[in-house]
Amino acid sequence: MYIDLLPVFDNEGERVDIDYSFRQDDENFATPVSVSGAIENRTGIVRIGATAKFDYTTQCARCGKPLLRHATVPVKHILVSHLDGDEDSDEFIVVEDRKLDVDGLVSEDVYLAIPYKMLCKPDCKGLCPVCGADWNEGPCACQPVADPRWDALKDLL
Ligand SMILES: [Zn+2]
Ligand SMILES: [Zn+2]
Repeated sequence: MYIDLLPVFDNEGERVDIDYSFRQDDENFATPVSVSGAIENRTGIVRIGATAKFDYTTQCARCGKPLLRHATVPVKHILVSHLDGDEDSDEFIVVEDRKLDVDGLVSEDVYLAIPYKMLCKPDCKGLCPVCGADWNEGPCACQPVADPRWDALKDLL
């Protein structure tokens, strides 16, 4: 969705409510991303304050079990039509032609918020690297495998 921000940039007190959803072109998203909030000009400063909600699928980084997670991601930025030199551009979003690509802005925040590695539970024991048994269901018959990182540490000591 694109929002024409010209009336918001030009008029103090102007507010545009956002309440819509869009499909993320990514099979890991189990639902559309629903966005609700507003863009508002307060004392000449234009801000977006919204929340994006969606469900997504991922895998446990240790045992590979499929996971379905619900996420709520805040989308908060100051919107400017141009940068005045010394402003920090990470905090400010420059809106080209005063048309805001809301899907694009929300998607950036959404991807930054999704953790790279997820666990099915904090103490997931993972899979045996030898036989593939799920150690959450009990120990297997394999011998414990020496961790090469531990050997490197012993050499240091
Ligand atoms: Zn797991
Ligand atoms: Zn095993």
